[in-house]
Amino acid sequence: MKRSADPDLREVIVVGGGIAGLSAAIYLGRAQRDVLVIDSGHSMAKWEPVVQNYLGFPNGVGGEQLLKNGRIQARHYKARIIRDEIRTVSSRKSIFVLKGKRKTYRTKRLLVATGIFHLPPEIPGVKQCLGHSMFFCKDCDGCRVRGKRIAIIGANNEAVESALGMLDYSACVVLATNGEEPHWDKKHERWLAEYEIPVARQRIRDVDHRKRKIRALQFASDAAIKIDYIFTTRGDIFHNQLAKKLGAKLDPDGQIKVDQCMRSSVPRLYAAGCVTPANCQMIIAAGQGAAAAQAINRDLFEESLASHSLRRFREAQLEEDKTVPEVSKSKPKRRKK
Ligand SMILES: Cc1cc2nc3c(=O)[nH]c(=O)nc-3n(C[C@H](O)[C@H](O)[C@H](O)COP(=O)(O)OP(=O)(O)OC[C@H]3O[C@@H](n4cnc5c(N)ncnc54)[C@H](O)[C@@H]3O)c2cc1C
Repeated sequence: MKRSADPDLREVIVVGGGIAGLSAAIYLGRAQRDVLVIDSGHSMAKWEPVVQNYLGFPNGVGGEQLLKNGRIQARHYKARIIRDEIRTVSSRKSIFVLKGKRKTYRTKRLLVATGIFHLPPEIPGVKQCLGHSMFFCKDCDGCRVRGKRIAIIGANNEAVESALGMLDYSACVVLATNGEEPHWDKKHERWLAEYEIPVARQRIRDVDHRKRKIRALQFASDAAIKIDYIFTTRGDIFHNQLAKKLGAKLDPDGQIKVDQCMRSSVPRLYAAGCVTPANCQMIIAAGQGAAAAQAINRDLFEESLASHSLRRFREAQLEEDKTVPEVSKSKPKRRKK
């Protein structure tokens, strides 16, 4: 039974069909909500051939496979998932109007789960190795590079801390600034000296790799160092444009500020996953998607009581009287002792 009188108005639209968006769609579908997921198809999860830290997969699971499973599971609970890219959004009389490349959509509640983009270093050869021997995140991939030769590319405090953190996994860690003037502070400079981390300051000409496995960094001077893995700290682009357009508060990095139920500073607008100040991990994105869905479901329920739309829904249910069980009005007989 459809709850809205307007067939073109959705109860919930989720922009982004990555880990957070699909998790929300499963919860909303199971809560009998009319939910549409609009996805442009560039989840970062696709970059990870073997996810090793997602609960329930002791032998790992491919990022693509995880997304595929998520789509099947969401569709099983009647969530609709379509391919489109939302270009802009506006808000009119408590309704969000989303303009996509293909269509315009209207919804009562909007969940932004658009993720981020990690910037790879601009070094020839690096992109082919993404997710295979070139990584962004120590928490995701440090464990899989134990005992290997690791280069951290960067020239700021974060790069120094990344190099220091990597010592838990390997004794062979080098910091490569790729010709950039270091802008780490004095404290980080002292740590580099104290922990005897070698720093290569030359520009990297290219990355020598075979079958996506890195073999060496080739410097402009023709010198080279043998390494097995690269981690980089070049930065992230947060896909926050839709939330920003609606006036949502962002933090200084551009992440959408949310409360613990994933509500943004704009009424009826929610955000989940890496576009928020979460630690950018799949299991956290999935958890945030679920939390957002539960808050949306609760808010819609309260709204339906306040607006009496649940009463209208109930009237339609009562008309189909065969679905309503009869409760006997006679007193129950007393049992003999
Ligand atoms: C190389 C690599 C390896 C990783 N390995 C791991 C790992 O091993 N373990 C781990 O926990 N995490 C890992 N991560 C991080 C993980 O991918 C993210 O935490 C996770 O994908 C975040 O989920 P999300 O839903 O927030 O964003 P995403 O999964 O990136 O999904 C966002 C979705 O929104 C869509 N979208 C964006 N804008 C629009 C728009 N305007 N209209 C429509 N759709 C839009 C995108 O196309 C995308 O499908 C890795 C990341 C990378 C880059």
